[in-house]
Amino acid sequence: MTRVRIIGAGLAGSEAAWQCARRGVAVELFEMRPACMTPAHQTDRFAELVCSNSLKSDSENTAPWLLKEEMRRAGSRLLGIAREAAVPAGHALAVDRAEFSRKVTEAVSREPHISIRREEVTKILDDGLTVIATGPLTSDALSAEIGRLVSECSTFGNGPGESCDAPSRAGVPAPHRNGNLYFYDSISPIVEADSIDMNKVYLAARYDKGSADYINCPMSKEEYDRFYDALVAAQAVDQKDWEKLNYFESCLPIEEIARRGPDTLRFGPMKPVGLKDPRSGRIPYAAVQLRQENLRADSYNLVGFQNHLKFGEQARVFGLIPGLENARFLRYGQIHRNTYIDSPRLLKSTLQMQARPNLLFAGQICGVEGYVESIATGLLAGMNAAALAIGTEPVPPPRATAFGSLVHYITQAETRSFQPANITFDLLPALADRVRDRKERHRQQCELAFGAFDEWYRKISCQLTVASPP
Ligand SMILES: Cc1cc2nc3c(=O)[nH]c(=O)nc-3n(C[C@H](O)[C@H](O)[C@H](O)COP(=O)(O)OP(=O)(O)OC[C@H]3O[C@@H](n4cnc5c(N)ncnc54)[C@H](O)[C@@H]3O)c2cc1C
Repeated sequence: MTRVRIIGAGLAGSEAAWQCARRGVAVELFEMRPACMTPAHQTDRFAELVCSNSLKSDSENTAPWLLKEEMRRAGSRLLGIAREAAVPAGHALAVDRAEFSRKVTEAVSREPHISIRREEVTKILDDGLTVIATGPLTSDALSAEIGRLVSECSTFGNGPGESCDAPSRAGVPAPHRNGNLYFYDSISPIVEADSIDMNKVYLAARYDKGSADYINCPMSKEEYDRFYDALVAAQAVDQKDWEKLNYFESCLPIEEIARRGPDTLRFGPMKPVGLKDPRSGRIPYAAVQLRQENLRADSYNLVGFQNHLKFGEQARVFGLIPGLENARFLRYGQIHRNTYIDSPRLLKSTLQMQARPNLLFAGQICGVEGYVESIATGLLAGMNAAALAIGTEPVPPPRATAFGSLVHYITQAETRSFQPANITFDLLPALADRVRDRKERHRQQCELAFGAFDEWYRKISCQLTVASPP
């Protein structure tokens, strides 16, 4: 039986390795940290969540819930660990990030079928099966190698030609490259819990949905105007390059959202609707939400406040938010590069490369966006690599499922405008009969998805002996 080489022990790579191992397939898992760090990772642990701690909604019949539910049915190890490391977050699944990556590292390291190699991979070998799961911050040498590999078929997006041992790239925007598939994302700041002035804030969940786990910093019109003026005037890391950057629309820096108009924040990350202040019984003019970062509840994330202002500017401007006047920042917002291949041209719906079927891609580099989506594609790539290793043909997930819809998007999207996507109902097929009520429509889409999923998973499980997750 062929051994599977998996490059990158992030979210996708760790899940892929575990899926191979539980099918009895030997894995060599390569991880370049700690010898070679990325600008965003801070530890040597596997599956480190580099920014928010949220694995999105857990409310029934939402698209992220559907995907997670399919992953649960397919025995996702990382999702199981996420549940063990969960912290209160209303109707979302959020985790203690340190606990999560500690447990993943432990589970993967303990697995006898997985041998771990702590080294940077710079070459893709021709022989055997390989899963590339090196994520949005793939090292430069490997980016160049992948670029070379795919150049005949497509363009490949990557950041500037920095070497991986160059000084930290965090916060340093790169020169814009027209025509290539890459963009810039940004991360939000984290503050220490005991530096928040609890007399000025209140606990509530939007529309009282789920438990009141968010800290809300309410703003009057005067406070909002003062904050807005300071934000749009604040200095970004590099003003010149900043103006040319190609951002991911659903993760825009807060200062970029603010520049689009004085009220855009009040309809976006500072939206106050449904956040009644229990002390006054009123909805504030605007509100900043803080989400618990870890189980100890000693740090909080400023939800939607990703930015790439200079650190001093962040302390000054975010200090204007009621309750955060004396906040201590554990991490400031930063900008980062994203890297992904032109999957619609390159990949089959089994995540195998069309031109080299012994090479699979998973995680953010294959064109999905987000933690859960990265784990999901890792799961699929792991299952498919295991099938190939055993000598069977992988069977792609049906289109009606969340898995199938994600894969359909990354392999069938219009290649010119291809941008990584989160799971949404837009990616799922429309119902045969129009259902006007949104909730009912989504419920029916989920029902169809589960039917198709269960049938598919039963079929592919017959091909291989699959050990149950612990
Ligand atoms: C700064 C930042 C913030 C983000 N914030 C969020 C967020 O808040 N919410 C969200 O849902 N998504 C976020 N994302 C997007 C995405 O969901 C995460 O990046 C996710 O971790 C992607 O999973 P992955 O497995 O594809 O990559 P990663 O989890 O990054 O794993 C890739 C692994 O490959 C290793 N590696 C890279 N090159 C090599 C090499 N040549 N040899 C060996 N190992 C290598 C890396 O060290 C890393 O461990 C963010 C991304 C970044 C970069």
